Amino acid sequence: MDPLHLAKTCELHVHPGGCLTVEDLIDIGKDDYKDIDWTLSKDAYEKAFGTRPDIVALYDEALSNPDAGIDRFRDHFVYTQEDGGDFGRFQAKFNLILGLLKHPPKRQEFVEAYFRHVVNRLTRQGLDFVEFRCSGSDDTQEGFLRFHRVHAQILSAASQDSITARYIVSLRRWSSDQDYDWLQDLLDQHPELIPTIVGIDFAHFEEGYPPKNKRDILGRVHQDNLTDPERALEITYHVGESYFDKSLESAIRWCHEVAEMGTRRLGHATALGLDPAVAIARRPDAHICELISERLDQITYDLSHTSDLATFNIKVDTNALRDEQQALERRAPDETVERFYDSQRLKEVRNRQQYVLHRLIQLGTVIETCPTSNLRIGGIPDPSHHPIHAFLKSNVNLAICSDDPGIFDSPLASEIDWVLTHTDWAPDALAQRLGDPRRFKLGSIRPK
Ligand SMILES: [Zn+2]
Repeated sequence: MDPLHLAKTCELHVHPGGCLTVEDLIDIGKDDYKDIDWTLSKDAYEKAFGTRPDIVALYDEALSNPDAGIDRFRDHFVYTQEDGGDFGRFQAKFNLILGLLKHPPKRQEFVEAYFRHVVNRLTRQGLDFVEFRCSGSDDTQEGFLRFHRVHAQILSAASQDSITARYIVSLRRWSSDQDYDWLQDLLDQHPELIPTIVGIDFAHFEEGYPPKNKRDILGRVHQDNLTDPERALEITYHVGESYFDKSLESAIRWCHEVAEMGTRRLGHATALGLDPAVAIARRPDAHICELISERLDQITYDLSHTSDLATFNIKVDTNALRDEQQALERRAPDETVERFYDSQRLKEVRNRQQYVLHRLIQLGTVIETCPTSNLRIGGIPDPSHHPIHAFLKSNVNLAICSDDPGIFDSPLASEIDWVLTHTDWAPDALAQRLGDPRRFKLGSIRPK
């Protein structure tokens, strides 16, 4: 048997929309594409890529001349390395899925159809354990409850067969308190879905949403879990994936803060494994500039972690930091500061990565690493620079996941094969290093 069988059959980080393939999109939309309002998709695409796509023409061609047409559709939709590491560009392509699923006359029908397609495909690929995560985009409570209920019901039914499928509700970062309340309402109204709905997640753009602002809601989640352990929700969190708006120290700190807040698994956390010299070479002046509020948070962090940081050879000049703090506090928090990198600072950033990985190991926090996704959205310039090399070398709990296997055209087994191709790990050694990812599944804090 393939020594990596366990890793190839257990998916812990996947978004259902991102599982849709070109063939699924054509199949689901074939009768309605002319009536669908594609504005959201076209606007985002034009903003990100500079050209306005004609989606109706793409469908026309794919249906009338599949040989050439499906390839053309694929060129438009699949997010490749050439599209450039940029979350806005990824979202522009993803919006095609949203345009389809939000088509008002068939909304309910499409949502059910697409998710059944997705669950069937992953089952056919041989997966037997999957945790899906999804945020939905409905702003009304009724729409939110319906959307997540339908997803969880489909997974609950699918789990009667050959696959164990669980559901994590991604709270929208800008309305996470409200989304969490609504999720609790869903569990109140549908207790039969409690075994399926095992956690909450934070996803979508991370820039502008500092983890410190999630401390209260996460505190509430932990408290609720203690009060009612039967329906405890564990936490996953996309962090350290897309962070061009801040310094490398701040990006690393965000990962650390999220882990210390009792998060079970971190999504991506590339900031902890991408070499800083590579990170700053990705764009002109990358990671030099950040908000004063961010710099002040970093100073507070450094002052309160001085001795831990010293253990990892990171010198904190407390007097200099206090002076800087006083000067910055007199300025507006939304102004920016610039700090340039030299070899000493880069060395210390590497040490900071080691420090936080060490803390993750102590806490038992898991990193979900998604090779293709990180290369294509996370702005990793080359496979040899992928953070997975650093993660594998450390003892951090690690799961290899696919994130969006449809839009990347790369299923989970291909992601594992990618690791074998691009690292020195042999299959047996990799299997031993990873172990069975099912030990990281959510729901483990609920009483047996
Ligand atoms: Zn993700």
